[in-house]
This record gives sequence, C-alpha cells and structure tokens, in this order.
Amino acid sequence: MRDQEGASANQQIQDYRLPKNVKPSRYELRLEPDLKAFVFKGEESVAITVVEPSQEIVFNALELEIDAASVERSGRSVKAIVRLEPAKERAQLNFSEPLAPGEYTLKIRFRGILNDKLHGFYRSQYTDAAGKDHVAATTQFESTDARRAFPCWDEPELKASYKVTLVVDENLAAISNGGQESERKLGNGKKEVIFKETIAMSTYLVAFIVGEFDATAPVDAGTPLRIVHVPGKAGLTEWAKQIGAFSLKYFANYYGLAYPGDKLDLIAIPDFASGAMENLGAITFRETALLADDKAASRAELERVADVVSHENAHMWFGDLVTMRWWNGIWLNEAFATFMEMLAVDAWKPEWKRWESFSVSRAAAMAVDGLRSTRPIEFTVHSPEECRAMFDILTYEKGAAVLRMLEQFLRPDVFREGIRGYLKKHQFDNTETSDLWDALEAASREPVRKMMDSWIFQPGFPIVDAATSANGLKLSQRRFFYLKDDSNQLWHIPVMIRARTDQGIVTRKVLMTERETTVDLGGKVDWAFLNEGGHGFYRVHYAPELLAALTRNLAELRPIERFGLVSDTWAATVAGLGPLSEFLKMARLFTNETDLNVWRAIIGAFNYLDMITADSDRPALAAAVRATVGLAAARLGWEAKPGESELDRQLRGVLIATLGTIGDDKEVQKQAATLYARFEDSPDKADRDLGPALVSILAHAGDAKRYDEFKRKFKSARTPQEEQRYLFSLTGFRDPGLLRATMDMTLDGQVRTQNSPYLMHSLLLNTASRYQAWDFIRKNWEEMTRKYPDSALPRMCEAVVALLDREDEVKNFFQTHRVRLGAKIIDQHLERLAVAIAFRKREGAKFAATLAA
Ligand SMILES: [Zn+2]
Repeated sequence: MRDQEGASANQQIQDYRLPKNVKPSRYELRLEPDLKAFVFKGEESVAITVVEPSQEIVFNALELEIDAASVERSGRSVKAIVRLEPAKERAQLNFSEPLAPGEYTLKIRFRGILNDKLHGFYRSQYTDAAGKDHVAATTQFESTDARRAFPCWDEPELKASYKVTLVVDENLAAISNGGQESERKLGNGKKEVIFKETIAMSTYLVAFIVGEFDATAPVDAGTPLRIVHVPGKAGLTEWAKQIGAFSLKYFANYYGLAYPGDKLDLIAIPDFASGAMENLGAITFRETALLADDKAASRAELERVADVVSHENAHMWFGDLVTMRWWNGIWLNEAFATFMEMLAVDAWKPEWKRWESFSVSRAAAMAVDGLRSTRPIEFTVHSPEECRAMFDILTYEKGAAVLRMLEQFLRPDVFREGIRGYLKKHQFDNTETSDLWDALEAASREPVRKMMDSWIFQPGFPIVDAATSANGLKLSQRRFFYLKDDSNQLWHIPVMIRARTDQGIVTRKVLMTERETTVDLGGKVDWAFLNEGGHGFYRVHYAPELLAALTRNLAELRPIERFGLVSDTWAATVAGLGPLSEFLKMARLFTNETDLNVWRAIIGAFNYLDMITADSDRPALAAAVRATVGLAAARLGWEAKPGESELDRQLRGVLIATLGTIGDDKEVQKQAATLYARFEDSPDKADRDLGPALVSILAHAGDAKRYDEFKRKFKSARTPQEEQRYLFSLTGFRDPGLLRATMDMTLDGQVRTQNSPYLMHSLLLNTASRYQAWDFIRKNWEEMTRKYPDSALPRMCEAVVALLDREDEVKNFFQTHRVRLGAKIIDQHLERLAVAIAFRKREGAKFAATLAA
C-alpha cells in the first residue's frame, strides 16, 4: 500500500535528497557564539570521500553565510566557488576541474545567527530571581535544522563522528555531546573548550549549549550523569537524577549493550519548543520536563519528569546508536522510545501502574485514528516539512500501543531477545522498519512482519463486534469510524479473551485475520471480555446481551478492563453506534469505582459533553456530574489517609477538581477556598496532589482579585511546575475581561513563546472564552505564525474542535491561512469539529431530558 505513489514519489524524494557523489565521515567543528550580538562564526574541516569524479559538492546550509570553502588533499588546496540555494536549504561548491575519487578534507569558514525561533542554533533568554536578564545559546536540530548551525550533509543516513570545539566567554559553561577533553584561556576574556570525539551519528543529534549553567556532581549511571540547569535551581534536580540513573542502567541491561557515549548531561533550557531532545550525551529539556521539587510537586507532575527522562535515555540506543535510514522511519524511533519509557517507569515505580495509565494515551490516539482523515503510522515522506509534521500522537502513542500489543502477543522475553538482536546487528548504522520485524521474527518464529504491516501501513484501527454463539463467541471486524464511511480493510488482531461459561472461567488468545470468526469456548457464555489486559489497539462493540452481562459483573473485571469498557462505550456513543442515555446509565454504575484511570475515562466524557452542551443545559450537566462523581469524592474525603496509595491521592484531586469546575458544586468551591488559604499559611502541610485541583477550582469560581493573585504567583513561582500551574490557571477563569487579559499576555512578552500557543489552546477550550479566543487568533494570526515555534501552531489549532457554532468560519479560515506543518493535522481537527457537531445534532435537543433521566 505504501508503494502506490510509485515513480513520482521517488522523483519527489530525489528533489530533497542530497547527491550521493560525496560522503562525510568526520567533522571537526569550531564555533564561537556571540551572546550579545546574537551571531556566531564557525570553521569546519570535514573528512569526505569523493566516490565518483565530481566538479561540484552539494550539502545543506540555511541562514548561513559561507566566507570561504576549499578542498585539500596531499597538501594541495583547491578553492571552490560557493553558491547558496536558500529555497532548497543547500549550498553548492563548484571547482574549476573535477575532483578525482578519493579522500579529501573540506574546509569551510562560515557565519550564522542565534535566532529566537527555538530551532537550529538559537538564543534562550531568562530573568533570574534578582531581576537580571541572561542569555544562553543552545541547539535543536531535529529534524533538519543542523543546517542552520553548520554546513553539513543533514540526512540521518549520513552518519559521521564529531570533534567539537567551542570558544566562549571565560565565565560561561560550554557543553556538547562528548565529554570535555581540554580547556584553555585565550587571554582575551575567552576560553577554548575541546570535546572528545563522538561515535558515528546523525547530524540531528549534534548539540552545543553555552551559557551560565551549573551542573550537579556526577552520579554513576554506568556513565557519569549530571543534571545541568541555570543557577539557583540545584534544589530541583534530585528527582531527575534518580530516574536518570535508574533508567539508563535499566536500558543498558534490557538492550544488552553498554551506553554508547562517554558521559550524559541532562540539561534544562529556559526556552524549548518540544518536551526534550535526545542529543547523544547532551539531552536538552524544557524545564518542566526535568526540574521539579520532589517534596512539593504532584504525582502527575513527577510522573511527567520520569516519563520524559526515561524516553530520552531510551533513545541513546534506539535512535542514536541505531537510526532510521530516512524520516519515514521516525515513527519507530519515537514509538519505541515511548514504549521503553513506560517499561522503565513501570519498573521504577510499579505502584504507579504506568501501563494502566497508558490506556488514557492509547484512547487519545484512537480518537484521532477513528477519523477518515487519519494517516497510516508509516508513510512516504518527501520534504523536510513533511517529516517535521510526523511528530504527532499517531507516531508516538499509536506507535507505542501497537508495539506493546506485539510485545504482549510474542511474550516480553521473546520480544526483548528480538530487540537485542536488532541493536547488536545494526549498531552505528541505519535501518528500515522491516529490519526490526525481521529480528523479532528470528527471535519468535511468528509472522511478525505480516501482522505488523496491517497496523503500520493501514490508516485507522478495527472495532470488533462480539456476540454469543452456541458454544462461545462470534466475532467480526470492521474499521472504526466516527463519521459513517466504508472500508474493507482487515487487521491481524491479537484478540485476548477472558470469559465465564457454564464450565467456568476460560481464557483464549486468538489471532483474528479474517473478517469473521467464531471462537469455541467449550460452553455457553455468561459474560466475556475481549482485549484482556487492555493492550490491544482495537475497540470492542458487544451485542446488547453481552454488554448487559458485563455491566452486571463489573467486579470480575480488572481496572484496565473497566477502563476499556467505559472508553469503548463512550467512543461508540460519539460515533452514533449507541445513544447517550445508555452511556450515562453505565456511568452511574461506577459510583463506587476506585480506580484513577477509569475515572479519567468517565470524566473525559463529561468534559466532552460540557463542550457540546448549550449554556442553558449546563446546570443539568453539572447536576449529572455531581450525581456520578459525588459519592466517590465523598468516600475519599478532603484529607489524605495514612497508607493510602499515591494513585488514590491523585484520584482525590481529580474528583474534587471535577466537582468544583464542571460540577459547579458551591460547597466544594467554598471548601477549596478555605483549604487553599490554610495551605498558603503553611505550605509544608499542603497536600501536593490536591494543590492543582484547588488552583483550578479557585480559577473557575474566581474574580479579578483572585486573578491578580494567581498572576503574581505565576511570576514569582519557585519551580517550573508551580509556574506552569499558575500560568494555565489564568485560562480557567470565567470572566470575559480576565480571559481577554490572558490572551493579551500570549503576545506582549509576558509569556514565553514555548507556552503561548498552549495557553491559547486552553482558552479555545474554555466555554466562556472560546469564540473570543478564536476572534483573537484570527486577528493576530500573522504575528502568531511569526513568533510561535512551528511545531506548536498545529497543536494550538487542535482546540478548534470546541467551536461548534462557527464551523463554516473555521473551515474558510484554514482554506486561506495555511498552517506550516499542519496539512494533515488541520483536516483532522476540522473532522473532529464535524464529529462534535453531528453528536450535538443527534443528542442536543433532548440533552437536558437525557441527563435528568
Ligand atoms: Zn523521542
């Protein structure tokens, strides 16, 4: 299926691929950034092999000036004429006579800018606690921005080793991928720092970081590991140090290979477009993803740090040591790191039940993958822009989910053997996705490639219809759509069944490859649950008698299975396969539910209803929320009990926040204000998992005075998490004037561009500000596209799903306003809006009556 574009696709790829007449093997790079003028100058010597007689050499360069270029061999130097091709992001060197095949050294002198767009070699500015401004210079090269920092063959397949030298002010720290080899003062206030040579790796993994940074003392993680941060934040490094060391050792053991670098720095950068970046030996993070006060942050906030650190560490092997040949393989890189992140965090904190909470991510991926406008996980990628657009929920979450499904199907130890074989065979090299399937087939002797092709190269996912048959179950599969559509796709579905028949409990593992199948369970079925363990990337639609039997036997299901039941029933409701009344009836059976993730599924549904409901029906919705959530919240109470699990403590916060916001519970709002005041007086006694809930409730019910207070707290926050919490609280108020003030903050410099688009996202979802936020975006679109990181704009626009009354206007807007990196994603957002509108059309008129029933 992926080959349907045939020859024309190949031609298009050639337009973006560099010619193959020259290959680099080693870069010697010397860079001197100027943190006052926001520029840098550089020199490089690249060891190249000319493989055929060539009169020209082509490589990537963007926003660079090339002052001189020449090639040298055996003491003879030949000057080149340089031609820049900015539209192609390339430079061409022309020589007066052809270079004969052989080894050369290419020497280039160049200059560039430290931009403020959070890509390439860029500047990050911050103000310290004393109000003093500081500038750091740092890099973000993935996918194709190394070319903004130095002339290079900027394709993942063209691996080379790097010997980096940085010339910086004496008082600044300088970090790169390799450990420091030497440092000497140059006498002019500058110093020269030389780093050890790296292994052969792709350009997108090279990194330089220069600025006023402190580092923790190294800990032994199999290699020296440090946490690097701007001064004054040493107290926020302990958590990252622990998970950093644990996960790095865990991976060396799992992969059966030593860490491929000579040290590892985890570096917190004040301005950072994504969550983190896996530069070998010098991983960069946004501060919220690395620094935290482990005594004060909530469990969810600490989990986020653990997740991201593990994810990046997993990449040191999977991605850095073994790398995809071209960007179509990025899904495997990211999906695998996401999968390993769960595995390591689950091993570190089993009590967090990380694989169970991953169900929430899996369901979020399904919400996109149920659209007509979804895409296959892997597809042909031509331009750099197309590959940058691949970093989405389908790459990460769907990809990780299908790997987990495969791991459970093959068995974890067999899967690991396959991974070890794959890494060992391909280390320092590049691969295609099929190389991994081949390694897993060798380890398992199962038809892995055939099975996985059905998940990787087809868009969408199946829903399995289940009904009872004489002695078991009758199953059939079809593609799940929110909006009715046809498809004859088939998947190889590992269906895991647990059932009770008149003969007792039975389990079965069935690989369903046909449209329909019957499963003999050896007796008449009482109840049956498909997708046992919850690892499958499919939904189940039970015939009425089976659904009724399951809801009568909820206690027989594990929490992850109850999550699956709620999540599948809700998806079917949104898709129009069942009425809302049925879902609400089921939700009320869960008033005694104690599992955090099951509650997240139920509350997610209520939040969706809040989005589609008319203002006049909102009190009825609030009453339904209170009726469903109230009992469970009351059972947990307001105070943590001794011996309570961390997940129960988090659940308390989730339930109370729901009651105090969309449940509009006045008593809860009053109590939240009292508790918040008490915690303010003695922060040591604050319940860390209740804190975020109190802040969101007080914002929801808050006035101008509260707004000013939270804004002050945002500006004086002690930790990245506190800063984040109070910043986003400013999107949760209900007063249009206050919300307008928050909108203004996204453009007037009070909020970092790394956060502004996400702030607008929240304002679009707030039912009190959505249309006002939309008008604001339309009015300021040009400025936003200029200021915000490219990757964040499509994310911001995701929230247009809430604009139910403005569908035509939204559609027209995106027809005339192109979103960079957003081609496919905007279609998905618009379809989600259409799904919401169709749902409202079906259920809206009788909404209040349905809720009251
Ligand atoms: Zn990643």
